[in-house]
Amino acid sequence: MNTASPEPAAAPPIAAPPDNPLSFVEEIRHLLYASKGNPINTCIQCGTCSATCPVASGGFMDNSPRRIIALIRAGFKDQVLKANTFWYCASCYQCTVRCPRNIDIAELMYGLKRYTVWKAAGNKDLIGPTFTETFVKMILRTGRSYEPVLATSYLFTYGLPEMIQEAQTATVLMLKGRLPLLPARIKRLENFKRVIKHIIPLGDKE
Ligand code: SF4
Ligand code: SF4
Repeated sequence: MNTASPEPAAAPPIAAPPDNPLSFVEEIRHLLYASKGNPINTCIQCGTCSATCPVASGGFMDNSPRRIIALIRAGFKDQVLKANTFWYCASCYQCTVRCPRNIDIAELMYGLKRYTVWKAAGNKDLIGPTFTETFVKMILRTGRSYEPVLATSYLFTYGLPEMIQEAQTATVLMLKGRLPLLPARIKRLENFKRVIKHIIPLGDKE
């Protein structure tokens, strides 16, 4: 009879620490640190935000604000980042003022937009991520918004008749002096860029 004690199981290899040790819910909590509202872990899932949201109750959001919060807390990162919820948010703040737990849901929507653009994880079928990235890059280059450049981020999603109509409208606006031919640049652009890069992570991607 073999009385030798069994070989101890090999110790599992020590994994290298991940680049980002924060969980998804912790990252979102950090994104909202400046918000005056309570953190999302105080949510009681009452559904007031979804019921009061004109976009969700109109059936335009694939995941309601209440459900987005539940998904974040459960760690469903991919499902959250691919949702159209925060891109369709109209920033009306009805959810924020009615939440019984004083959670700033509208600011959460802004935070999720920033996060998805920052991580390049947005839903490519939506106009919002490309539009936002184009806008921020343009602001960084000139300090000003310039509609003809912005239009390129969504114009090609239209059919030909709509594109022609948009081009006609732009031509009329230019002839009336309401749309400049060339983008303007602000003075002291470098100072402005330094400020922007402190508040928008995308600021490095010129
Ligand atoms: S209203 Fe506030 S507490 Fe209720 S589900 Fe929405 S976020 Fe949660
Ligand atoms: S701020 Fe956005 S999520 Fe909140 S009620 Fe308005 S549209 Fe809905």
